[in-house]
Amino acid sequence: MSRKFLFTVDLDRDVNLPVEGSMAAGSVDRGFGTSPRFESAERGLSVLLDVLDDVGMKATFYVEGRTSEVVDCSVLSGHCIGFHGYDHEDLTGVSTGVPMDADVVEGVMRRGFDAVRDNVSEPVCFRAPYMVSSPDILAALGRLGIRSDSSVYSFDGCSPYVLPCGISEYPVPKARDSDGRVIAGYLWPMHEGKRVPQQYIDMASSCDDVFMLATHTWHMVESRDGGVMDRDGVKANADAVRTVLEGVLDTGFRPAFPL
Ligand SMILES: [Zn+2]
Repeated sequence: MSRKFLFTVDLDRDVNLPVEGSMAAGSVDRGFGTSPRFESAERGLSVLLDVLDDVGMKATFYVEGRTSEVVDCSVLSGHCIGFHGYDHEDLTGVSTGVPMDADVVEGVMRRGFDAVRDNVSEPVCFRAPYMVSSPDILAALGRLGIRSDSSVYSFDGCSPYVLPCGISEYPVPKARDSDGRVIAGYLWPMHEGKRVPQQYIDMASSCDDVFMLATHTWHMVESRDGGVMDRDGVKANADAVRTVLEGVLDTGFRPAFPL
């Protein structure tokens, strides 16, 4: 039986963060306030697609609605397309303090779905911004005809399971590294210089039949702590991602989509 490798990418505003009192997310303040930026998302998309071409694999892109209106997404042909909110909303409202009742959630979900459908292609899966899910989100997904969600972390590997509502959940894995520290399937710490590719390859080795990794396009060219990367930084970062992808495939996995 071939092992499935799901490489998933959030295509959303640069270094996004919740803004108190605002449904729409911002970008980390680099001295000009928290208005959302999309330059790194777009540049990083180009860098990441080059890496994927080198490796010869397709990925799943969870595209934020607003980003699909700003960034040229015609380059995503052949990849699996999901959506990721409209303005990168915290759909629970916990981090923003904005009340999110079922009707508001429904409206945001519909708007995000429509934007990605109009600017990329009809989304077939979903990941909640900030990985915070809720019953209202799942209900909205059902009404949109989406059967695949990836909005939770799991310590029990990443084999998908079917929720009572009939939607399949594809969890992002968490595990313990060789030092006993928690490692998640998000490549975030590697982009920030805090983990190395081999740690993610080791993580894959311990998975039986399905392995999922996740990242953001902006993280290919901008780190949260270090700012926009210089040319050497971008190259080293791309090389690290390529090493991870090739290493996981060499472990016996085949690229797959969360469907
Ligand atoms: Zn996101």
